[in-house]
Amino acid sequence: MEYGFVDCHCHISAREFEEDLDDVIQRTTEAGVKTLLAVTEGVGEFDRVLQLQERYPRLVAPCFGLHPLQGGEGPEQCSVKPQDLEAALPQFYKHRERLVAIGEVGLDFTPWCAPTQQDRDDQMCVFIKQLHVAKELQLPVNVHSRSAAKVTIQTMREHGISRALLHNFAGKPSAALEGVKAGYLFSFPPAVCRNQQRDKLIKQIPLEHICLETDSPALGLDKHVRNEPRDVALCCRYIADVKDVSPQTVRLVSAQNAHRLFPKLKR
Ligand SMILES: [Zn+2]
Repeated sequence: MEYGFVDCHCHISAREFEEDLDDVIQRTTEAGVKTLLAVTEGVGEFDRVLQLQERYPRLVAPCFGLHPLQGGEGPEQCSVKPQDLEAALPQFYKHRERLVAIGEVGLDFTPWCAPTQQDRDDQMCVFIKQLHVAKELQLPVNVHSRSAAKVTIQTMREHGISRALLHNFAGKPSAALEGVKAGYLFSFPPAVCRNQQRDKLIKQIPLEHICLETDSPALGLDKHVRNEPRDVALCCRYIADVKDVSPQTVRLVSAQNAHRLFPKLKR
């Protein structure tokens, strides 16, 4: 069976791609990327992701989720509120057949992003609710975790989550290995190629627990340049180098992992 690259976490519905999306998609497919898991940060993106699936049905796999931080980058950014679930929940159920995962969901306890206990409690409440939705709809979760590695993994375990992708994971190897034990997978964007910070982590996580992602338009090789799904090939090569295996192996095994974790993906 032929496998292409699977970008397990990207924001193809982001405003940054609106102007030249057809070109971006063409470069994506030319690079051998067969699938994009299109995650959302807020309910305002849900329709756009479904429209993109209609426009590129072989490529785009929709995920719905509320990100722990709302309001984009900058000073308006704040923790998600339990009230935000009101508009989102009916949408999860209405479109359940079309969703391949619930995400982007998770916890971001970076001190300047979630300064108060109330912020962290609100994030936790929204995260747990979405974990329950995922279980009820029998969907895997696509997870953001920053400054909250242990608590994210612990929360998912406590709530009986067996299928999860921890995207752009930057916790300690010991925390990651707890996730591996729980059966979770990990993905790394092109930004990991900027330095050797994540090498130890990538080395310790078995290849059978690794997927590829770009998190585009963010987290590219160059901080100041828009990231695109085609650059998933960079993560592949980097992980291959760190693990001392061939890029073809990483490409094949990571794609098999992605199809195992997200069984609704088309081949
Ligand atoms: Zn993301």
